[in-house]
Amino acid sequence: MVRVVLVGGGHAHMMIIRRELSRVSRYRLWKRGYGRGWENDAKLRELELLLITNRPESVYSGMTPGVVAGRYEYEEAAVDVRSVCARAGWTVLIASVQAISSSERIVRVYDKQKDVHLEIPYDILSINIGSEAKLPHASFLLGAQAGAAVVMTRPIAELEPFVRRFFEAQAQAQAQVQVQTESLAASASENQTINVCVVGGGMAALELAFALRQRACQYAPQMHNVLVQLIDAKMPEKSALYTMIEHELAARGIEHRRNVRAERLQLPHAGTPDQQLSVILSDGSALPAHLVVLGTGAAAAAWLKTNTDLALDAQGYVLVNQKLQSVSAPAVFAVGDCCGFGQLFGDDSFPPKAGVFSVREAHVLAENIASLAACLAAGNAPLAADLKEYTPQREFLQLVSLGDGHAIGSKFGLAFSGAWVWWLKHHLDTSWMQQVTGSNKHAAPSRNVTPFGGSPAEAAAYLMSRHSSRDSFSVQLGVLQRMETDDAFCNEVRVVCRRSTKELYGIEEGSASSA
Ligand SMILES: Cc1cc2nc3c(=O)[nH]c(=O)nc-3n(C[C@H](O)[C@H](O)[C@H](O)COP(=O)(O)OP(=O)(O)OC[C@H]3O[C@@H](n4cnc5c(N)ncnc54)[C@H](O)[C@@H]3O)c2cc1C
Repeated sequence: MVRVVLVGGGHAHMMIIRRELSRVSRYRLWKRGYGRGWENDAKLRELELLLITNRPESVYSGMTPGVVAGRYEYEEAAVDVRSVCARAGWTVLIASVQAISSSERIVRVYDKQKDVHLEIPYDILSINIGSEAKLPHASFLLGAQAGAAVVMTRPIAELEPFVRRFFEAQAQAQAQVQVQTESLAASASENQTINVCVVGGGMAALELAFALRQRACQYAPQMHNVLVQLIDAKMPEKSALYTMIEHELAARGIEHRRNVRAERLQLPHAGTPDQQLSVILSDGSALPAHLVVLGTGAAAAAWLKTNTDLALDAQGYVLVNQKLQSVSAPAVFAVGDCCGFGQLFGDDSFPPKAGVFSVREAHVLAENIASLAACLAAGNAPLAADLKEYTPQREFLQLVSLGDGHAIGSKFGLAFSGAWVWWLKHHLDTSWMQQVTGSNKHAAPSRNVTPFGGSPAEAAAYLMSRHSSRDSFSVQLGVLQRMETDDAFCNEVRVVCRRSTKELYGIEEGSASSA
């Protein structure tokens, strides 16, 4: 009997439970003669499969800004872990892993519901617990703990419910003011400005700023004045992508303060009217805020350092080799945000902490767990297993939703925007959810094809620059797919696109960002 224990319901684990390591798919593969022969092994058919994760739902981050914007229901972006596991023949334990001893091959778990501590032995362990929020200063955490309106992007499952409660409470308070005011016109002019401050300069923070702006519109009858400000420590960047983003931020009235850091949070003094928080900035100014959203990046879970005997990288992530295997414990794998490759790919910040890498690691992880299980079942040492190597892609499609049915995308050093980009994002995100959950609760957009003339590269560039509100994206997806495989075509499209970007935004050819 080989016991496989997965810790954390991250992207990679949910995918392999549903697909490669689901009992159903393994049976099908076995019947068709695939599966590297390991399905035939009687011992392996008795594999014990256990997932331990601390929440009954696994929230898909790609759709979270859409949930915050109000385009999706929370449930549409949440994978029901119990139901996925039940259908795939996995046992699930909803509990928090607090320690790992690779020398004893034991995971220490706290089951909050039953208030018990458990020790769970494993033969093969895989860790996919994501990351924690990186905080600019401890005062933000203290503020959140004291009940101030401060929310972090991790745990991601708590983000939208917090935002929803905040807006509902504000809308209710303003509605009461309106009732007390003599006339509606008077109340509108007296309507207080609600200050929302998003801290962070990465794509997640940008997307959240757009999403919060959109969400505020839903409360417009009660709240007329919502000011979203984005505090970003980075210097202004002259690239096609960022020029487009700046343009869209300005168009939506989002104030973007660049090259300034949020230093600390100041709680309101007792008796301060309006009870606003103050975000103290590196230029010495104090920004009043009713809500502070911290999108300041990822940090390793602190307990990995204090409560495990695993080798970690300089940032505290589980150090793995190219087989996704812990460098200090060959029966332990780690994937997604919680692992680090050291200098393996040149720079220890590569690959970046993004769900897309966790998803791409899933297939290699599934293969390697299967091979290691076969190796252990045959009575061999873990190091004898023949494992696959993972190579992260350098170039990936970056998509930033603008919250209102439009999005900005970037790939091959090009930036593009429009409704089709949002529909493409919707298609990719909901396809992923469908793969994992098996249910199709999202309506598929229709596939409209636009006639065009000119050379293939010119036609492709034209299609990429369309801002139409129609829901077609399939032709543009075809362009991106061809660019992936046809270098000459890719270069031609880049030249044409950059020429038109220069005409539109005054950006020099070659200065477009490479995503
Ligand atoms: C607003 C926002 C938008 C984003 N958009 C994108 C995007 O569009 N594309 C993209 O690629 N990336 C995006 N990211 C980044 C992305 O969220 C992370 O990189 C991604 O979630 C990491 O996935 P993962 O598989 O490593 O783990 P996660 O998806 O974070 O899952 C970790 C799981 O482990 C569980 N867990 C944690 N600790 C424990 C424990 N001690 N015991 C048991 N279980 C535990 C958690 O409950 C969770 O289920 C976004 C991030 C944010 C904040």
